[in-house]
Amino acid sequence: MKFLVSLIFFTLSVFSFGQNKPSTIELIDYSDFPFTKTEIILKNSSNNADLLNLTKEHWDTTAYNPYKHVKINFPVQIKFDDSTYTPPISFKKVVTSHYGWRRGRAHRGIDIDLVTGDSVVSIFDGVVRFANYSRGHGKTVIVRHPNGLETVYAHLSKYAVKANDIIKKGELLGYGGASGNARGSHLHLVINYKGVSINPEYLFDFSEQNEIRSKNIWVTKNWVQPGLHSSKRQTKLTILDTKEKAIASLEKRKKVYIVKRGDTLSGISSKNNLSIASICKSNYIRKTTPIKIGQKLILEYTF
Ligand SMILES: [Zn+2]
Repeated sequence: MKFLVSLIFFTLSVFSFGQNKPSTIELIDYSDFPFTKTEIILKNSSNNADLLNLTKEHWDTTAYNPYKHVKINFPVQIKFDDSTYTPPISFKKVVTSHYGWRRGRAHRGIDIDLVTGDSVVSIFDGVVRFANYSRGHGKTVIVRHPNGLETVYAHLSKYAVKANDIIKKGELLGYGGASGNARGSHLHLVINYKGVSINPEYLFDFSEQNEIRSKNIWVTKNWVQPGLHSSKRQTKLTILDTKEKAIASLEKRKKVYIVKRGDTLSGISSKNNLSIASICKSNYIRKTTPIKIGQKLILEYTF
């Protein structure tokens, strides 16, 4: 122990008085050292020091959402450095459930099929903000990224990281499973911006290309409201990559639909790519309200 203490003191002295002598630092073997991984990297890379800036505000390694009292004004712009992300699993991604309304509840992420024990990796560089059990989500890892997004990897069977670890894209976070409230093993992937979940498919293409929809993307309120989407299908996309487009999209487009024989709310909803909830909202009806032939329904598009 005495040896370690003197070694730490030696290292600190080099940093304090050594006037930037990185070669001296490199001679030290950190492998058996009682520093956490984060501290070691911080001293050797400015890039990682930048990542650690992410831990300065609303950094809570015990809460799923540390932004509870933060108010966000939409639309918000999200920026990416790259045009692709690293896929969270190493094989073909099969989305078994989308972001949206599901069995009368909000499903705030997408479900990607996997087998228990499959590796789950981070889709971007970042810092692990949370690696803990979260009610419903089971064993969960949350990574915060430089652009302000947090990615949530839920229903894991095992962790491979701990809070405050610096993570590179593609780095192992844990192993897939079915912990928490899961029907079978899968990855529940959530994309949060300051505690608000964004429809992941608006930001990312989950096909083999692993594309980010735009390096500058504007997220309007519609993309953070599960009630306006259905977990059964991908919502039709119009990517807003300029502020002008984002503002223009806020002006709602209205269409009148006349109810025909045999129509149901769910039929009208799927034919027109609009959720039942949004049809109900714009017509001041409930989903149980009967609709009549010849009735005019207002379909309101805001995407
Ligand atoms: Zn899910």
